[in-house]
Amino acid sequence: MNSPASPKPAGAADHETHKPSNFLRQIIEKDLHEGTYASRRWGGSPGDAAHHAAGQADPAKVRLRFPPEPNGYLHIGHAKSICLNFGLARDYGGVCHLRFDDTNPEKEDAEYVNSIKDAVKWLGFDWEANGESMLYQASDYFDFMYRAAEYLIEAGHAYVDEQTVEQIRINRGDFSKPGTDSPFRSRTPAENLARFREMRDGQHEDGSMVLRARIDMASPNINLRDPAIYRIRRATHHNTGDKWCIYPMYTFAHPIEDALEQITHSICTLEFEDQRPFYDWLLDRLCEGGLVATPHPHQYEFARLNLTYVLTSKRKLAQLVYDHKVTGWDDPRMPTIVGLRRRGYTPEALQLFAERIGVTKSDSWIDYSTLEGALRDTLDPIAPRAMAVLDPVKLVLTNWDEVMGKPEDSSQAAVGVLDECSAPIHPHHPELGKRHFKIGKEVWIERTDFEETPPKGFFRLFPGNKVRLKYGHVIECTGCSKDANGQVAEVQATLIADTKSGTPGSDAVKVKGVITWVGVNDAVPAEVRLYERLFVEAHPEAGGKDFIENLNPNSLKVLKAFVEPSLAAVKADEKFQFERHGYFVADRVDHAVGKPVFNLAVGLKDSWGK
Ligand code: ATP
Ligand code: MG
Repeated sequence: MNSPASPKPAGAADHETHKPSNFLRQIIEKDLHEGTYASRRWGGSPGDAAHHAAGQADPAKVRLRFPPEPNGYLHIGHAKSICLNFGLARDYGGVCHLRFDDTNPEKEDAEYVNSIKDAVKWLGFDWEANGESMLYQASDYFDFMYRAAEYLIEAGHAYVDEQTVEQIRINRGDFSKPGTDSPFRSRTPAENLARFREMRDGQHEDGSMVLRARIDMASPNINLRDPAIYRIRRATHHNTGDKWCIYPMYTFAHPIEDALEQITHSICTLEFEDQRPFYDWLLDRLCEGGLVATPHPHQYEFARLNLTYVLTSKRKLAQLVYDHKVTGWDDPRMPTIVGLRRRGYTPEALQLFAERIGVTKSDSWIDYSTLEGALRDTLDPIAPRAMAVLDPVKLVLTNWDEVMGKPEDSSQAAVGVLDECSAPIHPHHPELGKRHFKIGKEVWIERTDFEETPPKGFFRLFPGNKVRLKYGHVIECTGCSKDANGQVAEVQATLIADTKSGTPGSDAVKVKGVITWVGVNDAVPAEVRLYERLFVEAHPEAGGKDFIENLNPNSLKVLKAFVEPSLAAVKADEKFQFERHGYFVADRVDHAVGKPVFNLAVGLKDSWGK
């Protein structure tokens, strides 16, 4: 740090965010206060020390990055990381880079790259700032990585090891035993350089030798016992084609990517904690050599998200997709961002979830109900209300014509006179207005709202009992008829005159039960998809079990339901509270006007296992 820290740098007061503090916020606030990174320059794009030195003072106070490997769709764990990294950048006057970590020449799919970009944008974040797009791909740095490797060799910090994989493993030692030096460890830099260039030029077999950092074979941290940094691998890379037959190891590539991009705070999950000494060792060497700018980035670790009943591994989620255990990456039961979105999750809900779980330094499990709670709490204040009957049985009001009179149009005799009812779109927002629907001689009610012989404490329909049809009239149940299988096919009741909601004296008749309904006359048929957790076990892999065995066979139930006419023309992605049932979203893939499909997003309260 060669330039003085500004006397009143961007301290806590400038960055009052009203967000609960956490250890990462404290680190960033301290660095801003002390001006740790105040001297940094930015060359306008990633690059080496000279490139940045020729640039301007970095307009970004901090630089963070979100570095996914484009080998699958992002999941809820990534959402936590996105909200964390982009959120910190936003809150502290910084920027967050979206970096595709594609140094591994595995098959990469444009589909994954696009889905990752969509996910970040949809969550409400952007990699564009100060007129620049900070969208990068790590494979663009292969040339520099190669140069860094040659530098390490020339400075005596790396050597080509021709031991077999097995010998390397044995000679590494273990926690109780120091390692043994490789017989190739004492080669001269010139010999190593020649060998490394042969590796690059394709003169050696895959796996026949590796480049290793020369650090300390007796280090108590096994990651410092001369880790491999380059390997031979004949594979076509999606970006660089067949230019390379050697590829950097992740632990070598990642710190370099951060350094070239002038990242200040490199936040990763806890499993990389033991790699931090190597991260620092490598960047210290490259700073000494003047290859990357100083001060170099620092790595900080936080606990990854573990969520009960959920798998957070792209690879395992891919298995569910490819084995057709779900309908695709965007199956509403999937914890992918596209799945959650289709399920009815909103960016606000996921941001609230990320805020509620916070960041910590020790691993733990977050209960799935925390995720559902965040959705419920964000939808409740905004979701329009509607009535829906999910498992319909017909209710006939046998005295309708006597009470209401006969319809003038004789073709309407079966329906009877229609009586208009209304209900608020949202109970706390009268300004949103009302929804309207009609009641006639026949209505659909929930099958479970009728019991021929009621259990104790049942207040809904049974012969002799009175209930209110919500926003409608009080009725008294008189009986039911059954089909050949003994199933209730129709329920009968009589209408009690002068009890319609909102009319004078309507509450003169007291009832204990209120049931939801939709009129047979104006009901809209709809497919309703009810979802449960994808796994029956909170820890789908506990006890070394194959998670496939823990799949919940009842995770999807498809119903032929009826919804009120206000839902006849809703658009995909619109969300509602179906009164008494929960929050539902018009499916973004299959829903169409005239063929409505609603997904259960979340129930009204946490009822799992109760
Ligand atoms: P996966 O096993 O699902 O592929 P990964 O960690 O290998 O996960 P990457 O694409 O390499 O996935 O991750 C990109 C970023 O997302 C990393 O910085 C990683 O720390 C973060 N991340 C991944 N999974 C989680 C999680 N469960 N909780 C928090 N952050 C996560
Ligand atoms: Mg990975």
